[in-house]
Amino acid sequence: MKFPPFLTSSFSFRYYYSFHYKFPKQYHYIITHKLQYIQSRKFHRFSVNYKMAAEVEQKISNMTLNDLNPQPDFIAKRLELWEQFKKRYEAELADNQNKSIEITINAKNKDGETREIKGNSWKISPIDVARQICPKSFCDTLVISKVNGALWDLERPLEANCNLEFLTFDSLEGKQVFWHSTAHILGEALEKIYGGHLCYGPPIENGFYYDMYSSGCCSGDIDLSAVTQAHYPSIENSMKSICNEKQPFERLELTKDELLEMFAYNQFKVRILKEKVKDPKTTVYRCGSLIDLCRGPHVRHTGFVKAFKVTKSSSSYWEGKADAEALQRVYGISFPDSKQLKEWQRFQEEAAKRDHRKIGREQGLFFFHELSPGSCFFTPRGAFIYNTLIDYIRSEYRKRGFQEVVSPNIFNMKLWHISGHAEHYADNMFQFELEKEKFGLKPMNCPGHCLIFDSDIRSWRDLPFRLADFGVLHRNELSGALTGLTRVRRFQQDDAHIFCTIDQINKEIRGALDFLNAVYSLFGFTFDLCLSTRPEGYLGELAVWDQAEKALADALNESGIPWKLNPGDGAFYGPKIDITINDALRRPHQCATIQLDFQLPIRFNLNYSAEDGTKKRPVIIHRAILGSVERFIAILTENFAGKWPFWLSPRQAIVLPVGPSCNEYAEKVRQQLHDAGFQSACELDPGLTINKKVRNAQLAQFNFILVVGDKESANNTVNVRTRDNKIHGEISILDLIEKFQQFKKEKTINAEEIF
Ligand SMILES: [Zn+2]
Ligand SMILES: [Zn+2]
Repeated sequence: MKFPPFLTSSFSFRYYYSFHYKFPKQYHYIITHKLQYIQSRKFHRFSVNYKMAAEVEQKISNMTLNDLNPQPDFIAKRLELWEQFKKRYEAELADNQNKSIEITINAKNKDGETREIKGNSWKISPIDVARQICPKSFCDTLVISKVNGALWDLERPLEANCNLEFLTFDSLEGKQVFWHSTAHILGEALEKIYGGHLCYGPPIENGFYYDMYSSGCCSGDIDLSAVTQAHYPSIENSMKSICNEKQPFERLELTKDELLEMFAYNQFKVRILKEKVKDPKTTVYRCGSLIDLCRGPHVRHTGFVKAFKVTKSSSSYWEGKADAEALQRVYGISFPDSKQLKEWQRFQEEAAKRDHRKIGREQGLFFFHELSPGSCFFTPRGAFIYNTLIDYIRSEYRKRGFQEVVSPNIFNMKLWHISGHAEHYADNMFQFELEKEKFGLKPMNCPGHCLIFDSDIRSWRDLPFRLADFGVLHRNELSGALTGLTRVRRFQQDDAHIFCTIDQINKEIRGALDFLNAVYSLFGFTFDLCLSTRPEGYLGELAVWDQAEKALADALNESGIPWKLNPGDGAFYGPKIDITINDALRRPHQCATIQLDFQLPIRFNLNYSAEDGTKKRPVIIHRAILGSVERFIAILTENFAGKWPFWLSPRQAIVLPVGPSCNEYAEKVRQQLHDAGFQSACELDPGLTINKKVRNAQLAQFNFILVVGDKESANNTVNVRTRDNKIHGEISILDLIEKFQQFKKEKTINAEEIF
């Protein structure tokens, strides 16, 4: 293993530990490997060389990686083959152009109006059409086109009569194409700098990444097998020159054999070709020196990417398998405009300040321990939030006719075979053996609820039968995928299953929509609704699907909340309503579920006796509003940025005596608040000035700060101010408790303002 020259063999354990405190995390990789190297060579020196540490620090921050010189051999060989195949394509294209016929293109202009354009097949391309019917300023913002509904490169000739649409970065698909194209730019830079072999480079929800295999790559003495944060400026510089060159994205269709020859140097692309590519021919794209196996499409040239940033790097595994090759993953984000990048950066800073993991630590609400990855410890204050949320939902259940049950966590695998989880969900389940039988921890409550339904004879009079369960669920997420409270292994849901007749679907869905409206508006969330209807390969009778989908659509219409249709996106076992809430930073989150299920009642052979005496099958509605309580707490923490609304706050009030003579009175007030059911504290430290006490209480986000001195003590009052330093003045203890009780009962979101 090679190391940067500045890390020499005098590197020692204590030195290593001093590094761990002194240096940012991104250098630990080099340092850890260095340590392993030293251990393997038995260099154990216990000297601390601070001067050298400072030099190393300096060198790392000045580290510039240039493009490799000479460039790896495979780049030239690949280009040679490209040129050869491109000549053949150009001949084929010329031949097609000779046989060109006039075609009709129904193209949508900037305003979405359709224009009919005539042109010659194999000659006219979408961008030619755009130039005829759209202003130039609009053409310059185009990312991609859609031909008969499928994405199509803007410069790729049209082959026949078609419908044509144009997409900009503002559309979801436009963003994905834009980010995917930037992944190629990143890939080109990575090849040039590291000489690594590229693997997958997809767009993701926010940006893109590229995986690279670079084990053993080095340039002179510099180890290139790991990408660290110190390299980002070098990667960005290389990407910048690629963008300045306005390299066109060129497309070729080649046979599998030709591609195997072209990518023979790269075992990963060979694997993709052999295992994933089923068609005899597939496409490759070129931009600059990079030729990449890719289905496309892309932006027209690299110059459209005006602003970008390398955001993160980490190690990953080929296809996410821990026993496969270790890869380097480099993440990035890009925009067609540098203003958008700046906006994005500001947003990231704001989001980082609100990160629930950070606030959870600062406010002492919850933590994770390596001895139980993905399962959260809620401290007393965190548990207060958790239980208050559950109590709130529970109180709604009483009003809305749900009955709460408690059901087992451990089930014989036979249950999961009936429910279908053994077949489709086993990888996500924790399983174990008990007395020679296989068992599994429940990942969902539904099968258990089916057993409850089936535990007695049911008649039409029992329906709708609404079962609610806050049971603990376990899902076996990969340890690498676990993130704070948003991806966990252990969680609880405000889960419910409604067993009802087909005729009752409409009313139940209206009830569910009313329920979620009540809960979400309490937190100030707006939300979007989407109806997903039957997919291809749905199970069950068409008439039942039609009736159910109509009942859902009617309920959505009656709710008065705007909704969209997502045809074909339902589950194979029933249609559903997708609900997306938007938080204070306008970030979307999916929490609630309203999912119809025609299959589970069949699998469990559930039935009820109908009014006419016949046996009938109920429908199941899976329904959750908070969804995972853990995840919902993460969303709330970030939404409120740690400023909890009074009713949910684990720090509702703190009593601050101005001096020790008032300590006894302060403690008495705290006890009164506690006895009235509020989360109250008292700060009696004589070493703190009253100003310091107030400041600390504000930083800890106590909703109300109650200052008491001799006057308040004599009058049986407190002097009220808030965490945002709004001063409300003197009030009697009884009046204070009355106000608090009202805020709690009404779940007032701005109690500090309106006190
Ligand atoms: Zn591509
Ligand atoms: Zn369910």
